[in-house]
Amino acid sequence: MTEITKDPSSVLEELGVTAVRLDLPFRLNHVNCFIAEGEQGTTVIDTGLNNEYTRGQWKELLEGRDVSEILVTHYHPDHFGYVGGLQQVTGARVTMSEIDAKAGAEAWQEEFIDALPVHYKASGIPEETTAQMIKNLRSFQPLVNPLPEVTRLFKEGETVRIGNFDYEVIFTPGHSDGMVCFFNHEHSVLFSADHILPKITPNISYWFHGNDNPLGSYFEALKKMKRFDAQTVIPSHGKPFAGANKRIDELLHHHDERLEETLQAIAEPRTVHATCEILFQRELSVHETRFAIGESLAHLEFLRHAGACERENKDGIWYYVKK
Ligand SMILES: [Zn+2]
Repeated sequence: MTEITKDPSSVLEELGVTAVRLDLPFRLNHVNCFIAEGEQGTTVIDTGLNNEYTRGQWKELLEGRDVSEILVTHYHPDHFGYVGGLQQVTGARVTMSEIDAKAGAEAWQEEFIDALPVHYKASGIPEETTAQMIKNLRSFQPLVNPLPEVTRLFKEGETVRIGNFDYEVIFTPGHSDGMVCFFNHEHSVLFSADHILPKITPNISYWFHGNDNPLGSYFEALKKMKRFDAQTVIPSHGKPFAGANKRIDELLHHHDERLEETLQAIAEPRTVHATCEILFQRELSVHETRFAIGESLAHLEFLRHAGACERENKDGIWYYVKK
């Protein structure tokens, strides 16, 4: 991966954008949020989790500023968690995609969480692991509440003003169904959210709601993104880097390999959980297990949609097998 040779922050500087790196209590230990100052006031992109640390950081960073806009790339807690809280403090408008506004409003509600054990059971996950995973999911509730009042919805291809520059809004489903990226044509700079990351591959999971073939959508979105040929990428995790298209090719290649491994894993009929254990042969925390299950399922469902495998229900449990 080539990181840009000049100080990466200089690209941001040209655009009048300040990167805010917030710590996260996970293996993925930080998230990048952004502040841009423009004629119409201050725009914030993403906010981190709602916890004491985050609240303190924003209080300091936004001291004396008039925040008029909060733009949300997607509904995951590390990006969306404090949006509602910051909106209450600042009175800012909140814009996100319709799909993720809905997902954010639903994903941590009891009704949704209550439905999960059935799905986990159907995935062959042991009861004890299910209980731990549900507990882990519940631990996010205080980190994403209060929910924001979404005042505006992004439209694909529209132009938004961030600081003193215009950006095209690009819909990039995959990592979440309603994720958006922002592209500035003049400087060929892409705020890539979690669509393209420099060191890690974005997690593409099926979470038992929404689009059941997120990996298929992700591939489409990566190919669409290639047409922009972004020269500088500002990701939500990790450092800015040069050349979106090179990284896109690497990500596509990674998933090709992963799909091949998945196919090999289901030479015999296997549950999602059993497939996951073959694909992830290392000790995983409960939090990581949730992601690993989601990712295994996304690969299995991609293969099923592509006609490469089939799935059979035996006594309420799904088994996938290569065709
Ligand atoms: Zn993220």
